[in-house]
Amino acid sequence: MTTILITGTNRGIGLELAKQALAKGWTVYGSARGVVTDPEAHICDHPKYHDLVFDVTDHVAVRAAAASVSEPIDILINNAGTIGPKRQSVLDMDFDGFAKTLAINTLAPLAVAQAFLPHLKRSSNPRILTVSSRMGSLSHAKSDRIAYRASKAAVNKVMQGLASDLQPMGVAVAQLHPGWVRTDMGGQGADIDVSTSAAGILKIAEGLTLEGTGRFYNWDGARLEW
Ligand code: NDP
Repeated sequence: MTTILITGTNRGIGLELAKQALAKGWTVYGSARGVVTDPEAHICDHPKYHDLVFDVTDHVAVRAAAASVSEPIDILINNAGTIGPKRQSVLDMDFDGFAKTLAINTLAPLAVAQAFLPHLKRSSNPRILTVSSRMGSLSHAKSDRIAYRASKAAVNKVMQGLASDLQPMGVAVAQLHPGWVRTDMGGQGADIDVSTSAAGILKIAEGLTLEGTGRFYNWDGARLEW
């Protein structure tokens, strides 16, 4: 049976990933900054749902959470993320906000992957997926929300390196764009709903092998340019 760890399960794509993983009968470790209280889905009451409480930028808390988990983890989905500060154009940058964006979107996925690597190595089919964004693609020359774009470009590079280093250990690593999704971040005018996006992400997670490691995928499984 599959055990999955998802960061940011209190709302948005992460919450839907947790719901769909539980519906598959998987064991879910979900992380949030506070205890998840979702009255509609009752994920918090589900016997196979386990809360982990940490801010992804608090590396000490991340390691303590890892130490509290004894079972192997098959799939890690780094989902928690931020759009960044209000002022984030190259000519008018909130630098503290930029640094915080990098801490959440770029450094935290690596810190979480490092902390839970021992659990992943004990799986027979370990996989790490990071929810990135097409907004980080270097082939897109747009300059709006540059802190967010830079943080996602950087996490792609970090995870590409992790894929290379973990390949000999049998751990597959991939990045994905979840689509433009109707969440607090995506807004209500976005292209797809959370259910469609999460189903696509879990399909990629289920099918990911060492052959596909180090790649950047769209939510529908298509490969994307860096
Ligand atoms: P939401 O804004 O709806 O949710 C963001 C999640 O990340 C929340 O659970 C939030 O928790 C969590 N989070 C943010 N900062 C931290 C932190 N420091 N520590 C722990 N958790 C944190 O976003 P989405 O669900 O839309 O986005 C999920 C992922 O998908 C993100 O990585 C985003 O960049 C990516 N993405 C989304 C797109 C979209 O269209 N929606 C498009 C492309 C990529 P809290 O409630 O505590 O803030």
